[in-house]
Amino acid sequence: MALIVQKYGGSSVADADRIKAVRDRIKRTVDAGNQVVVVVSAMGKTTDGLVALAESVAATHAQTLEEIDAKERETDLLLATGEQVTIALLSMALQAVGQPAIAMNGSQVRVVTEPKHTRARILYVEPDQIKSALTLGKVVVIAGFQGVALDEATGLPSTEITTLGRGGSDTSAVAIAAAIEADVCEIYTDVPGILTTDPRIVPKAQMLDEITCDEMLELASLGAKVLHPRSVEIARNFGVKMCVRSSWLDDPGTVITSPRIGIGDLKTLEVNRFVENISIDYDQVKIAVLQIPDRPGIASQLFKPLAEQSVNVDLIIQAVQETEGVNDIAFTIPQNQLQLAELVTRSLEIGASSVTVDSNVAKISIIGVGMIGRPGVAAKMFSALAEAGVNIQMISTSEIKISCVIAATDGEVAIAALQKVFDVPVQTATSRETILNTQNPPVRGVALDRNRARIAVQKVPDRPGMAAKILEQLAEQNISLDMIVQSQSDRDVNEIAFTVAITDLAKAETALKQVANDLGYGEVSCDDDISKVSIVGAGMINQSGIAARMFGALADAGINIEMIATSEIKVSCVVRDNQAEQALKLIHQEFNLSGDRAIEVPSVLKK
Ligand code: ASP
Ligand code: MG
Repeated sequence: MALIVQKYGGSSVADADRIKAVRDRIKRTVDAGNQVVVVVSAMGKTTDGLVALAESVAATHAQTLEEIDAKERETDLLLATGEQVTIALLSMALQAVGQPAIAMNGSQVRVVTEPKHTRARILYVEPDQIKSALTLGKVVVIAGFQGVALDEATGLPSTEITTLGRGGSDTSAVAIAAAIEADVCEIYTDVPGILTTDPRIVPKAQMLDEITCDEMLELASLGAKVLHPRSVEIARNFGVKMCVRSSWLDDPGTVITSPRIGIGDLKTLEVNRFVENISIDYDQVKIAVLQIPDRPGIASQLFKPLAEQSVNVDLIIQAVQETEGVNDIAFTIPQNQLQLAELVTRSLEIGASSVTVDSNVAKISIIGVGMIGRPGVAAKMFSALAEAGVNIQMISTSEIKISCVIAATDGEVAIAALQKVFDVPVQTATSRETILNTQNPPVRGVALDRNRARIAVQKVPDRPGMAAKILEQLAEQNISLDMIVQSQSDRDVNEIAFTVAITDLAKAETALKQVANDLGYGEVSCDDDISKVSIVGAGMINQSGIAARMFGALADAGINIEMIATSEIKVSCVVRDNQAEQALKLIHQEFNLSGDRAIEVPSVLKK
């Protein structure tokens, strides 16, 4: 007997017939001897309809903050009705076939959230009522996407209804699973599972049997339509086993595994630290290849020979260059491969002006799923380092990790500074070792993000605090950035480049131009004609040559790589938007990720 949470999305419960089909699946699961808790979304497009209704009656004039707050409160009251319809109907349907069931909304269960309307995070879920209903042999049917706000004055739940933000019912399901210590949280949706890439572009994309939470989070742009990233964050922190399956099929779907157990606090389910871990790796040497021609194939010509010699390249950074037509590429490798790597790099005839090697470096990283969607974490890291007088030589980021290369002699000061601001334990062993033993494939999936634009800030004085100041400007405007890259040049200025959502581009540009003079940097150049392609796989940590293969696939097709950033389990490249789909196809092919039959494009992806 297992304790199973099953979550059914809006399309799975869109009408009475579908609700009956869901009922049958629940009944089968119970009859097989399991205890079942069900979490549901609103029927079909109900929530969209309610949002539209609200817009049709709500004020259109510019509002004060109080007016906005008041409207958000009623919005929650309105939207929470959607899920309430589904739980009542589904519970009745179960009762009608002789299956005892009870429907509960978020406040009846006590899914307690922060007092923040329309985007509340879950603090805790009271397990007692759910458990006693289960003991009575009932199926417990709970409304997803909603909760009840904590009354901060008394520390007890209030009577205020909150919602978690669109798509939040996945998050409800996993939070409930964590609270009642369920054996598995099954997410039923209209995709058969998680795919290796976007099937609209690569029809033979394949279903994955398994993926880790970290990989899933790094693949955010690929998986976000299927799973709310916040649900994966909870699963990861509490070791909840998740599974994504189709409501229409009996296929096993994709299992999302979480190796870490028990690092979360059940009293603050979603409001955990932004940063879970700080790690420093002194076993690093930095090699910078300066002013090489900016043309297709260069990255491949550099990293392929290194891969052939089994050099295990860690961070790779290629930023945007102020001088047209040339780029700097910098990378780090383990100390014991220095001689080999230096020899290979220096012998290459790729037109570099010089190659510099620095073995007095360390890589310091902060890791945490909490940084997704929270602007300002990077700025906080950079300003902590700046205040401690630590100069940042290189920056590379992914969705859940920010790494900086600094002087090794600054290591201890840097660690102390970060520990103070983020209040977390330090992991001195590199995170590499902790995942070394797993049997993960080097590339699990390939993601394409076309909604990004690139901003490059040029001639940034090379002194502590500059990256922090630049990022603070953006954090103040609530702009989230990713793929921040700072590469080192041999000049006394650096370029810092990053990607932002296209919709934030104009705002970001204005914010940065305003302070250009004060901060002493040069031009701010923007480009919305780019796309980001990434490979993600936990197995790339212990294999050399994975990035080189990605670059090689692009080189063979004459696709220019304009920016590179890496983390342990991800390599991202910026390419021209009109070459992005081709790039995705080539990379997917390079790593043999296609299956032998075409996947039917799931309807959630169709829009
Ligand atoms: N019904 C909510 C929405 O449409 C929550 C969910 O479906 O996950 O956003
Ligand atoms: Mg959903």
